[in-house]
Amino acid sequence: MAKDVLCEVNNCQFWAQGNLCSADSIYVVSHTGETAENSRGTDCKTFEPIEETLS
Ligand code: SF4
Repeated sequence: MAKDVLCEVNNCQFWAQGNLCSADSIYVVSHTGETAENSRGTDCKTFEPIEETLS
């Protein structure tokens, strides 16, 4: 199991200082089914954008 997840997506609700992911677990999916050619063919499905407060 992955113990520490590093992530650069700093507009995700789970992102924390130091490029850390604070989610209990993450779900990674492929763009094209159940296999991927390389890392560019994968995505974090757990991503949730930070909700911007409109003022
Ligand atoms: S949930 Fe995914 S996109 Fe969000 S911080 Fe964690 S690894 Fe990054």
